[in-house]
Amino acid sequence: MKFRTKTVLGVTLIQAVLLAVLVLSVLAQMRTACRQQIEHRATVTTQLLSAAARDPMVAFDVSTLRDLAADLVASGQVAYVEFLDQSGTRMAASGVEPEGNTAWSAQADEQLLGRSVAIEVAGTHYGQARFGIELDEMTAMLAAVKNKTIAIALGVMAAVAVFSMFFGTLLTKRLNDLSIASRAIAGGQLKQHVNDEGQDELADTARSFNHMAHRLAAVSEAHAVALEELRTLAYHDPLTGAHNRRSFLDAMAQEHLRVQRTHSEAGLLMLDIDHFKHVNDTWGHDAGDEVLKHLVTVLQGNLRRIDTLGRLGGEEFAVLLPATTLAGAAELAERLRLAILESPAVIAALGGRPATEVAFTISVGVAALDPRQPRTEQVLKHADVAMYEAKSTGRNRVCVSPLAAVS
Ligand code: GH3
Ligand code: MG
Ligand code: MG
Repeated sequence: MKFRTKTVLGVTLIQAVLLAVLVLSVLAQMRTACRQQIEHRATVTTQLLSAAARDPMVAFDVSTLRDLAADLVASGQVAYVEFLDQSGTRMAASGVEPEGNTAWSAQADEQLLGRSVAIEVAGTHYGQARFGIELDEMTAMLAAVKNKTIAIALGVMAAVAVFSMFFGTLLTKRLNDLSIASRAIAGGQLKQHVNDEGQDELADTARSFNHMAHRLAAVSEAHAVALEELRTLAYHDPLTGAHNRRSFLDAMAQEHLRVQRTHSEAGLLMLDIDHFKHVNDTWGHDAGDEVLKHLVTVLQGNLRRIDTLGRLGGEEFAVLLPATTLAGAAELAERLRLAILESPAVIAALGGRPATEVAFTISVGVAALDPRQPRTEQVLKHADVAMYEAKSTGRNRVCVSPLAAVS
């Protein structure tokens, strides 16, 4: 059962019980008050009759008794009145005689309140007067009051039910918002914010929730940054930013698969700095590092976004060239060789050493990723052989692997 339904049912039930108790007690009090009023009227009528009927009874004046009876009924004081002589014979009467004309003093049902008055003078009994006061009016009035009270109670109940429904909706809306936001967080959408205005416990809960969501988002962002750094560390060479050996070989294997599947072409360059040991020996290891970084910058500046540059180790690099023919790869290799030749690395001043320009060259081996070549390592070997061919034939050169030209 929903919280709102429970609230409405609970509040309505409690107030129904309270209203029922209230209505019953109001009706009981009204009934008692009416009874007392009627009893008072009966007492007054008793006193009136015992005073007014005494002389005509003593004088056996039937005509006056009739007039008296008629007046009493006409005035509405009583519904029925009769005068009986000593022997119980009716002398005069007026009004509608009640059915089952017995036990007058005790008769007080829903319709009639009966009384009997003995007419005595100086100890002598002359007869009695009996009268009945109608209770219909009181019963009708009580019924009307009862109906009105019940109608008002039902109205109050309906109003409270509407109010509790409104209140329940207000309450459940905020709980609902929290639940939706929690589900969104569970689904990975951490940037959640719920309405936290107000000073009540729900606003407090909403503020705590927002704080938690904010912290979660911050922690998750930090994790994402750390993960990205880890990924960079895992796949890239920390000095130059080029792909590391493992990452490059993975990319090459992927490209080889693609080439085999689509029967397309891809080029592979293997390049190595000439006499790099000399650079280190002359300008120091830090300068050597700067040369390596400079080399990567120049190479990246001459490659496409789809090409992959990897550092295989030391001052040895490789370039994967998707959708490139062997001739195209050789052309690019020559362009790279010239670019390096024409842009020496500028090494900033360090310690006692002044800023220096370090000119250097590269030797490049070119091979092709052949769809018919089953092993990727073999292609790497072809490029390696071509590169050492360039080294052994004078350096600062590009050599194309003769084994690569199968296609
Ligand atoms: P060759 O023309 O035959 O390639 O000669 P080379 O001197 O370039 O080759 P060799 O293999 O003799 O020397 C490579 C040098 O590269 C040796 C090594 O200390 C240096 N080296 C390798 N990795 C790094 C590095 O990360 N930073 C620096 N500064 N030097 C490195
Ligand atoms: Mg070298
Ligand atoms: Mg080397």
